[in-house]
Amino acid sequence: MLVDTLIPTPYYHTVGKEVEVFEHSYKNKIPFLLKGPTGTGKSRFVEYMAHQLDKKLITISCHEETSSTDLIGRFIIKGAETVWLDGPLTTAVKEGAIIYLDEVAEARPDVIVAIHSLTDHRRVLFIDKLGETIKAHDDFMLVASFNPGYQRGFKELKPSTRQRFIAVSFDYPEPKIETKILVSETNIDNDTAKKLVAIGNKIRNLTELGLTETVSTRLLVDAAKIIHSGLPKRLAVHVAVVEPLTDDLQTLEALKDLCNLMI
Ligand code: ADP
Repeated sequence: MLVDTLIPTPYYHTVGKEVEVFEHSYKNKIPFLLKGPTGTGKSRFVEYMAHQLDKKLITISCHEETSSTDLIGRFIIKGAETVWLDGPLTTAVKEGAIIYLDEVAEARPDVIVAIHSLTDHRRVLFIDKLGETIKAHDDFMLVASFNPGYQRGFKELKPSTRQRFIAVSFDYPEPKIETKILVSETNIDNDTAKKLVAIGNKIRNLTELGLTETVSTRLLVDAAKIIHSGLPKRLAVHVAVVEPLTDDLQTLEALKDLCNLMI
């Protein structure tokens, strides 16, 4: 048993067939890719699945400086000695954990090279610096997420990499489900949750605003939390939903007016 059973199962509301797909992907040792904009429940889903499968989860939030060394490991100086320290990927490969590379496309290209041999029938990790090849533990699974590049500023993932994964798209849940998520996550009343979801959907449909990213479920959850803790509703929506989206003064004003009409 790797996971402490006293830790409650993370709350995750299923939106499609993602649970079944993940289970089969795990059973068949095929890496799993979650595609979709930020704040759509990708990380929460992975936490939930790790808990359901009773596996340890190691999460790495990738950014432009994330290198294969950060993942595989490095030599460090300890007193008079130089000792090898396994990185999180090496640990997961050895222990049979689930590794989640969040926003993998943001990482340096050598990260993609490093995971290639783990994503095909070989299931091995090359540790250049030690001249070693490690066979992955039977329970090891590689999971990654990325934000498809249909919006400005996000990096793409090469077809040769994408085709090594089973992939599932994540998006904003339908209003009924998103309302339930807000209520479950924050204990807010159903009516306010519904209004927040309506605001979210209204702004999502305003594609002419050209926002880099639109209202995520995460933003709505944050708004619901601060409303539940006592902040006036309109102010909560302004600071949790509108302000994070844009710095353009005209757009800010227009969005605030729109929200004031809706809550
Ligand atoms: P991502 O990894 O896609 O950026 P997260 O998994 O961090 O997004 O989700 C952001 C927040 O939205 C979560 O903390 C949770 O409160 C909420 N959330 C989104 N989708 C779901 C869902 N299907 N079930 C439960 N909570 C969700």
